[in-house]
Amino acid sequence: MLKNDQLEQWDRDNFFHPSTHLAEFARGNAPQRVITGGSGCHITDREGNRLLDAFAGLYCVNVGYGRPEIAEAIADQARELAYYHAYVGHGTEAAITLSKMILDRAPANMSKVYFGLGGSDANETNVKLIWYYNNVLDRPEKKKIISRWRGYHGSGLVTGSLTGLELFHKKFDLPLAQVIHTDAPYYYRRDDLSMSEADFTAHCAAELEALIEREGADTIAAFIGEPVLGTGGLVPPPAGYWEAIQKILKKHDILLIADEVVTGFGRLGTMFGSTHYGMEPDIITIAKGLTSAYAPLSGSIVSKDVWKVLEEGTDMLGPIGHGWTYSAHPIGAAAGVANLKLIDELKLVKNAGETGAYLNAAMADALGAHAHVGDIRGEGMLCALEFVKDRDTREFFDPSDKVGPRIAAALLEEGVIGRAMPQGDILGFAPPFCLTRDEADEVVAKTAKAVAAVLD
Ligand code: PLP
Repeated sequence: MLKNDQLEQWDRDNFFHPSTHLAEFARGNAPQRVITGGSGCHITDREGNRLLDAFAGLYCVNVGYGRPEIAEAIADQARELAYYHAYVGHGTEAAITLSKMILDRAPANMSKVYFGLGGSDANETNVKLIWYYNNVLDRPEKKKIISRWRGYHGSGLVTGSLTGLELFHKKFDLPLAQVIHTDAPYYYRRDDLSMSEADFTAHCAAELEALIEREGADTIAAFIGEPVLGTGGLVPPPAGYWEAIQKILKKHDILLIADEVVTGFGRLGTMFGSTHYGMEPDIITIAKGLTSAYAPLSGSIVSKDVWKVLEEGTDMLGPIGHGWTYSAHPIGAAAGVANLKLIDELKLVKNAGETGAYLNAAMADALGAHAHVGDIRGEGMLCALEFVKDRDTREFFDPSDKVGPRIAAALLEEGVIGRAMPQGDILGFAPPFCLTRDEADEVVAKTAKAVAAVLD
């Protein structure tokens, strides 16, 4: 346990925190919290507060905190062999076993797993592989990637471009030219309120097709999407969306990347979001839930068809010129093996589906009629509330009122962590899969209290 009484000052003086107001933090005006422990769905901080983490860290601690099975697997691996690289055919039992376990769980037609460290680098890998793929196929012009506004795919150069949220572009000279965006499948925020879900799906499909025609299908390599929009607002797709989108992609010979960094390994109550929605991706991005964040590890699962072309490429050009020092790191892989075993043993995918549905229903019961709750939506162990000034017009609150962040702060005062999502007043929940019904009731009751404190 850290006893340093200067820790808070050292933090302000030395630590560059991601996604943080740097100036306010350094001045001491932005909140600071030093986390010291975790067990199940709870974390504890240095002040002794015990908080119900209804966002599972950054929707990643899917099995919950403090699992000795994973900690021991990591320690055993570190003692036996902390590191060896995976270049030129080297491997470890953990990495090889994990690749088999992933393929055993993945949708049909998947062939191999490339391991990285986080979701951003996995998506960078995907884009590189797709560019390589089209060069091997002698289609050097077919390179652009289509992403959706409000999609989240990371914060690197290409991946920050793919991410369809302003904050990740502003002053970073992004998006890069090879990335273009199409409409978010965000039914609640449709322009024309008279549209049915089916109409809106047809509208999204038509917008995509028009974009492809404007740019030229021979310039577009791939479409990337999360099965359910995550950081962009926890938005499940309108009915028939993925079917309609895939029809267009197939017609124009455009690959599909399913970014399952959030949905992979159970969050929707199914092992993969792709199977949940009938998606047939060419590449699947995995990260977070692969190890439940006990160690950094991500992956790109490539389909048989893509793999065949990659093999042809190396016959033409020699070894693939892609790899990280820490690809398939044995400690991450050992954590992944233990994590996937635990998910099976504890039937956590089933619980994510069942308790997630319970949480969503209870949230709708408690707050569905509130004058400032415009939408309550979710799928599996994802749930979001969208706050509006006026339910009929869906008018936004003034962003300077910071309604979403204030409700999240009021909830934290009650001892529950939810997340104020960017662009709009949206409060998101993505609890660990081991959430109990009592804990779900607590999340709902305290959310109702926090909403009342800010809005009533
Ligand atoms: N893709 C999705 C869908 C994500 O939600 C995230 C992170 O939240 C990423 C990619 C990026 O992952 P990382 O933050 O591990 O780089």
